[in-house]
Amino acid sequence: MLRDVALRVTRPRVAVLSAVHDRPHADTDSIIGAVRRELPEVSHQAVYDSLHTLTAVGLVRRIQPSGSVARYESRVGDNHHHVVCRSCAAISDVDCATGEAPCLDASDTHGFTIDEAEVIYWGLCPTCSKRS
Ligand SMILES: [Zn+2]
Ligand SMILES: [Zn+2]
Repeated sequence: MLRDVALRVTRPRVAVLSAVHDRPHADTDSIIGAVRRELPEVSHQAVYDSLHTLTAVGLVRRIQPSGSVARYESRVGDNHHHVVCRSCAAISDVDCATGEAPCLDASDTHGFTIDEAEVIYWGLCPTCSKRS
């Protein structure tokens, strides 16, 4: 995947990519933890840099629901959305409602050419709805 986007293949990049792949919606701290279990010598900065680079080339997608730290996922390019629990901040993927972006029609485009609607569904996850 790294070669496909003309990125040099480095051990930190490979480790970060596989950590994100294995833990969808993980935050930076848990990615650092996972990478360092495999490569103890990798610095925090190298993980930050790799996340930044991988996000910039589109191999990793960064999401940040309001009130949450940044989270990362390797499921990219399919315009999927997220459902977030208001109580415990659990996140799940929701397929695009119509199959392609933008999956909502703006009531007024103000002359803009719109290519994406960023949709987050908010609610309570099954565990939290049982508790309340
Ligand atoms: Zn919850
Ligand atoms: Zn996702």
